[in-house]
Amino acid sequence: MSSTDRAAAETTAAARASVAIAIPVAPPGNPATFPALQAEIRALAHERDAVILAHSYERPEVQDVADHVGDSLLLSRLAAAAPQSTIVFCGVSFMAETAKILSPRKTVLLPDLAAGCSLADSITVEQLRQWKLEHTGAVVVSYVNTTAAVKAESDYCCTSGNARAVIEAIPSDRQILFLPDMFLGLWLQRVTGRKLTIWLGECHVHAGIRAADVERWRREEPGADLLIHPECGCTSQVIEAAGDDAHILSTEGMVRFAERSKADSFLVATEVGILHRLALKAPGKRFVPVNREAVCQYMKLITLVKVRDSLRDGVYPIEVPADVAARARLALERMIAIA
Ligand code: SF4
Repeated sequence: MSSTDRAAAETTAAARASVAIAIPVAPPGNPATFPALQAEIRALAHERDAVILAHSYERPEVQDVADHVGDSLLLSRLAAAAPQSTIVFCGVSFMAETAKILSPRKTVLLPDLAAGCSLADSITVEQLRQWKLEHTGAVVVSYVNTTAAVKAESDYCCTSGNARAVIEAIPSDRQILFLPDMFLGLWLQRVTGRKLTIWLGECHVHAGIRAADVERWRREEPGADLLIHPECGCTSQVIEAAGDDAHILSTEGMVRFAERSKADSFLVATEVGILHRLALKAPGKRFVPVNREAVCQYMKLITLVKVRDSLRDGVYPIEVPADVAARARLALERMIAIA
């Protein structure tokens, strides 16, 4: 991608982000009811032989009632290993699909079917098939934030935590189509030195975190370490200017880094749900979001009431057609074999 194309793409991303961020976040309900709802949910989970998984961007009260909290791949692996027959996935639809692909015999429930993902929506399976026709023989690497159908058309999946290892494992003479996140793709080009053909997709939340947000906080908190998720719109713009105290990390990487770091103050450039987990895992340290409006409305659709209803009523079961699941599983297993 040329610098002109990149600037145009980033401008488009910012415009879409400002529209998407205007979508209201669903109200959480009355906090006074949370303890009783959480007790009801734990009792139902026991009764229904269910494990509750929550992504790090979920509401604090939903994270607190879960058996496990983490990123999408960690949760899918935990789902496959869990002895329970039912998985309640507090996250978005592509995550529940991934859990179903890796745990085909288990019941996977998503508490709200409207919990989608603007990044996964930025490429359809038809668009990917057309892109492959235009680049015959290229290797397709898909970020895990994709639908099952897109994964099934891919050679490898990757997460932000292992994308670099996946790219580096592909022979250097092979063209790579990387999708759907352009900011992650640009960062991968930079750290691997590989020329990638990048799909111009984006997450509206991360694209909305701009270099100006980061620069302002860097001036206000000069002693703080900077933690940046590679999906951020700011990644390609600020990382060159950042010093040794800037770190490009996946959500799980941020949690591990904060736990082990000697630093006591951090600027966090990702969805604000991670702040709850960071505060729990690294107590006594200070975490400042560089953009407080970096809120994923899809993640926040999951409330305690919906988790309770999901367990009580068995809604909403996620199914992936067997042939799609088999091909998508192959792309996921190739990734797992590398990193
Ligand atoms: S934060 Fe972005 S990538 Fe994650 S679920 Fe929300 S829209 Fe998708």
